[in-house]
Amino acid sequence: KTFGDLGICEQLAEACSALGWRAPSRIQVEAIPHALQGKDLIGLAQTGSGKTGAFALPILQALLEKPQPFFACVLSPTRELAIQIKDQFEALGSGIGVKCAVLVGGIDMVDQTISLGRRPHIVVGTPGRLLDHLSNTKGFSLRMLKYLVLDEADRLLNMEFEKEIDQILEAIPRDRRTYLFSATMTKKVSKLQRACLKNPVKIEA
Ligand code: AMP
Repeated sequence: KTFGDLGICEQLAEACSALGWRAPSRIQVEAIPHALQGKDLIGLAQTGSGKTGAFALPILQALLEKPQPFFACVLSPTRELAIQIKDQFEALGSGIGVKCAVLVGGIDMVDQTISLGRRPHIVVGTPGRLLDHLSNTKGFSLRMLKYLVLDEADRLLNMEFEKEIDQILEAIPRDRRTYLFSATMTKKVSKLQRACLKNPVKIEA
């Protein structure tokens, strides 16, 4: 199968080839058609499966159709993963002018505040720092958010980010698409799934 066969537009399919992605990975084949139909997704997938592309491509395609700032938010358990996710969004979206911000702890708030002032389409962050900006950075709101991604949900929950995630959920619209990815399906993950997702399609890599 090709990215085009999955419903990915030519511009984005070309970005995939430019990255050397010759064909969609298994999780991408499973996820992308459902995502393009507007479904919520639960993906059981490890790092290395291509899961980032599985959620980034449908989000970028929806963004192309109706561009707006603060279109999608990705929650990641760690700083390193957040930066990798942002890099993939930028690589896939470079041809379409996608702006991303990364909000993680251990780095000065000021540069992040400036990057939010550019009104990015995609915000990737760890829950604590993202919340920090939501409460303190003027002009930053997720009230118009269309897509939420909970990446490595099992790790997000192991790191006791539950309270922060609840607060973030209160700050974003109920009417949105949600993608949850996790390497393992624990009790905590299914509880989060029930709280966040609507009639999700379950996919496995
Ligand atoms: P991920 O599982 O999202 O962390 O991706 C792991 C690595 O696989 C990243 O370096 C991606 O650039 C790469 N990758 C993602 N999708 C594909 C694909 N369809 N073909 C080849 N490499 C890919």
